[in-house]
Amino acid sequence: MTKKKHIAILGSTGSIGTQALEVMREQEHLFEVEVLTAGSNADLLIEQAIEFQPNAVVIGDATKYQQVKDALKLQAIKVYSGSDAIEQVVQMETIDMVLTAMVGFSGLKPTIAAINAKKNIALANKETLVVAGSIISKLAIENKVSIIPVDSEHSAIFQCLVGEPLEQIEKVILTASGGPFRGKDREFLATVTKAQALKHPNWTMGAKITIDSATLMNKGLEYIEAKWLFGLQNNQIDIIVHPQSIIHSLVQFVDGSLKAQMGLPDMKLPIQYALGFPQRLKNDFPRFDFANFSSLNFEKPDYHTFTNLQLAIDACAKGGNAACVLNAANEVVVDAFLHDKIGFIQMSDIISECLQKITFISSPTLSDLYHTDAESRILASELC
Ligand code: NDP
Ligand code: MG
Repeated sequence: MTKKKHIAILGSTGSIGTQALEVMREQEHLFEVEVLTAGSNADLLIEQAIEFQPNAVVIGDATKYQQVKDALKLQAIKVYSGSDAIEQVVQMETIDMVLTAMVGFSGLKPTIAAINAKKNIALANKETLVVAGSIISKLAIENKVSIIPVDSEHSAIFQCLVGEPLEQIEKVILTASGGPFRGKDREFLATVTKAQALKHPNWTMGAKITIDSATLMNKGLEYIEAKWLFGLQNNQIDIIVHPQSIIHSLVQFVDGSLKAQMGLPDMKLPIQYALGFPQRLKNDFPRFDFANFSSLNFEKPDYHTFTNLQLAIDACAKGGNAACVLNAANEVVVDAFLHDKIGFIQMSDIISECLQKITFISSPTLSDLYHTDAESRILASELC
């Protein structure tokens, strides 16, 4: 790379956002931070802005605007607030790539704005593809924009596909750690607490995705994400539980050959790969050592106990606005679970009820999806 790549990070104060900044700090000769955005964590946003000197920052929560503005008044940094500002700022001419690391449906509009402005996307915000995969994929093709996955499984598949035409894929195999409740039954799940669910065995992540990993909804969302990223049919996606999270996913080709991408569970690697693509950048992250792992294990997912996974696969097969309903209801129930309003098992019961009750639309427009999202949130909240 000769010219530095100018990156906008949407959600810079989160788990992916802060790790992306670590990568950019380590590779500062290659990357320039152009824009940082946060939801409400003004203190961290200010700290990041002072260190990385972006062109602009946006704080989603407008009540924090003055705090950020005052703290940065001696810096040559533009300060904006509100969700509309996030949509506008991603279109800045100086941006080469937008890392979408906001959480949930909130990432959809800025991602669309960035694609329309012809910015390449490093996509962490999987919910965007879950909700509007067909619209986003079409838009990316029309605007000649690359969507490079950050999610470790999809980064693994993407890396396995280098030099391989998509038509040669027989199937992809997504690996799942199984989460903290692997091997447990529904009776046990009925008793689990928020604190137990927030303890992921292999990864440290934001609260929402950590709960999604405990319910296996995360793997369901990733199943849908894989479909749209790689243009797959539903029968081309398999899931296998692999508790050590060393094989990040696999591709099986038409000749039966399997390629896997492996490494220690560390999100900085897929983040760096997406930001640096097509270059593979040298780093000093800890290396995997076979001597420390005498065995790698694999087992079938328990679809009966973790009903969210089956709900997501079914919503994907149904198509239309079904995955949008699933996502909205899931965001509401995860939030309710994190606020001790409902139990672990109730989460999937409520999502299932929303999927049955919300009107199905087979070919939704974007405005249909916004409507579906709002309607599903209301119903899910009532059911909580
Ligand atoms: P976090 O909750 O840690 O961070 C979310 C970020 O988005 C924060 O910067 C937050 O700001 C910001 N944000 C949240 N809501 C809004 C909003 N309404 N408007 C503006 N900004 C908002 O999440 P993660 O980093 O864990 O996850 C981000 C995305 O990446 C998710 O889609 C997740 O599924 C995906 N992902 C995450 C992985 C991980 O290891 N963490 C792995 C693979 C995918 P603030 O801090 O101010 O609240
Ligand atoms: Mg993942």
